[in-house]
Amino acid sequence: FKEELKKFKNQVSKTKDGQTKLIEANIGSPADIDGVLESGAEGIGLFRSEFLYMDNDHFPTEEEQFVAYKKVVEAMNKQLVVIRTLDIGGDKKLSYYEFPHEMNPFLGYRAIRFTLDKKEVFRDQIRALLRASAFGELGIMFPMIATVDEFKDAKAFVEQCKKELDSENIKYDKNVQIGMMVEIPAAAVNADKFAKHADFFSIGTNDLVQYSMAADRMSEKVAYLYQPTNPSLLRLIKMTIDGGHTKKRWVGMCGEMAGDVQAIPLLIGLGLDAFSMSASSVLRARQLMSKIDLKDAQDLANQALELETNEEVLALVDAFLAKID
Ligand code: PEP
Ligand code: MG
Repeated sequence: FKEELKKFKNQVSKTKDGQTKLIEANIGSPADIDGVLESGAEGIGLFRSEFLYMDNDHFPTEEEQFVAYKKVVEAMNKQLVVIRTLDIGGDKKLSYYEFPHEMNPFLGYRAIRFTLDKKEVFRDQIRALLRASAFGELGIMFPMIATVDEFKDAKAFVEQCKKELDSENIKYDKNVQIGMMVEIPAAAVNADKFAKHADFFSIGTNDLVQYSMAADRMSEKVAYLYQPTNPSLLRLIKMTIDGGHTKKRWVGMCGEMAGDVQAIPLLIGLGLDAFSMSASSVLRARQLMSKIDLKDAQDLANQALELETNEEVLALVDAFLAKID
């Protein structure tokens, strides 16, 4: 069984009828790179930068970050590495910084809201990312974007940092891609507007489900509402993909859903371009994709969008999977 999967290691990801996609890996630190290189992933769709801040006793310096980012981009040897800027706050705290007490930290001062407010922290990270971009293919991604203004502010800040680097004669990739996570419903429903400004989208279903269902992702009592394949979520995902495609942006997904066997046929049908998942899921996903015809997946997705419940969608997908196997 394992042997059969190995065949897919050095292949490109494509559907049965030859539509190419990207299957990439998510990582949390440079230590994960060996696993990614072994996995057959075609790049890194999400590098969570939090570890640099959480396993530390101070905000990491520009130099410390530069070393870590450069290591990952170089190791990936020209494959795209999407690095997400600091997504702290919510449940993730820092020993050396006191966050304000909030009633609902998941709805509070976190991620891009924090870094747009703490420009000295943001500057060190953006400069480190830009400098690392000179050593491979790097994409910068902002987490928790809710409004077009936030995205424009964050992007303008990157432009400002580029000017600083220019004046210091420090090199970086002038065409570095700047994209955003779509993990707040407000961004999903307005995706076509964000697409004018962002080079790419990556759908964060862990949070998108949380915010759409108003169900805390850490609460066991409401865990039954974690339903990424619920038709409501499928509609938000469709709006995001269609919105991105109106401006020819690539649309990926880096939430857990991207590696889920029951979700993959639906996501192919909805037109997702890139699937980023844990390294251990890559080959299984590629094998599954190779058995799926785009037209069949589109029919499946269209049917699923019209259903009422998550159970109905899962039953539909299971019947589909049984047929292709
Ligand atoms: C997500 O929200 O789906 C995501 C990928 O980000 P995180 O799990 O780090 O919040
Ligand atoms: Mg998230």
